[in-house]
Formats: sequence, structure tokens, C-alpha cells
Amino acid sequence: MNGKINVTVWNEYRHELQHETCRKAYPQGIHVAVGEALLEDGAFDVNYAWLDKDAEHGLSQELLDKTDVLFWWGHMAHGEVKDEIVDRVQKRVQEGMGLVVLHSGHKSKIFMRMLGTTCNLKWREVGEKERIWNIEPAHPIAAGLPEHFELPHTEMYGERFDIPTPKDVVFITWYEGGEVFRSGVTFERGYGRIFYFAPGHETFPIFYDKNIRKVLVNAAKWAAPRIVREIPCPCVKPLEEIKTKLEE
Ligand code: ZN
Repeated sequence: MNGKINVTVWNEYRHELQHETCRKAYPQGIHVAVGEALLEDGAFDVNYAWLDKDAEHGLSQELLDKTDVLFWWGHMAHGEVKDEIVDRVQKRVQEGMGLVVLHSGHKSKIFMRMLGTTCNLKWREVGEKERIWNIEPAHPIAAGLPEHFELPHTEMYGERFDIPTPKDVVFITWYEGGEVFRSGVTFERGYGRIFYFAPGHETFPIFYDKNIRKVLVNAAKWAAPRIVREIPCPCVKPLEEIKTKLEE
């Protein structure tokens, strides 16, 4: 224990190995770009895990038990994530671990499991401009960010985004093509906090943008556990004597 927040960055890590354009944007993988943004801040210890790391996708119970916040980036192989690992992550989030889901992770098993909806949206991949509006400047995830900032090239994710009503909508995005999107939203499930952040397409260097990196750092701090506790379902004895009798 060194007082740092333990983050595990999970990346599917297939695009970067298979596609030259993604390898150019993220030579060491998206997970390393995200992890370096966190390490730069100094408040975190960072572990990396990916789909093909081992039989458990790098997410052993031991690692999860010491993980305060799990980041998740996936896209082309959501279906290959084993249900038993999804069960394991879900339980850990309910017990207090933070979960930060990035970009195409909106269709990951874990995100859909936590939210219970299709998480479908509109999309278009032409490299248009994105303007992200910080509509809750007092929210910890928006700390230090300007009222709005732009990404020169992005993948469009448009409404309607089929999610439950979020706890907070921190960011709203406008795209050059005219659509809008709730691009930064929070949820709570059990004792765990969840943040979804839309930017992060695999062919654009979005995770090197200084404002985006600030959001990642803020989100990891916000999502860190307040308590970690199992959630039982016990039959309990009364605290006071109960005088009410059932009628014969
Ligand atoms: Zn994408």
C-alpha cells in the first residue's frame, strides 16, 4: 500500500496488432496510451490486461481484488469475453470497484450487463470534427477542463444512445455532421461507480489529447472506491421485540 489508486487498464488489443492504421496511432496499444496518461498524473499504479493475455483475459480474481478502478476498451471481439469473467467483474463493481468504459466499449458484455439496455447508438466513421461541451463544470470528472474543446478527427456516435437515465451527464458532444451525443455519463451500481466516455476511436490519436487525458485522470479518481463490501441478502432477527401477532 503506497496510497496510490490501483488502476487496471483492459484493452481488447486486436486492432493494434492486426491493422497498420491502428498500430500507427497506438504503437504499444491503446491500453498503454491510457495507462501513460494516468501514470503522468502520479496518483495511480497501473496494470495492463488484454483479451489474449491468458485464459482469464488477464483478469484473475487476485488482480481484480486489488484493482480500484478498471478501464475497458473493446470493439471487434466483445463476444469472445468469457461470461464467467464478466460475472467476476460485475460482482466486483457491485462491491465497490470503479469501472470506466471507453468508446466502443458501449457494446461490451460488461457495460451492457451493468446497464441492462442495448446500449445501441448511431455511428459514422469519416473522421469529422467533434466538439465536447463540459456541461457540469462542478463535477469532479470535469475539473480543470474548459467549457468546450475539440477533436479534429473522430468517429461519430449519435443519439439516441439506449442507456438508462444516467446519474450525471457531464459532457455532451456536437459533431460536424450535425448529431449530438451524451458523451460523458455516470452511473452507480451497488457501491461501484461507472463512467462511460465516448471519444477514443482506434485510428485517431485521441488518447494523446491533453483534455482527453485530463478526463481519464479525473474519471479514475472519481471512480475509486469509497467502500468495498460484499452485498449479502440475509434473513435477520428483529432489533426490538415484535408484539404484533398473526391472527389465528
Ligand atoms: Zn470506433
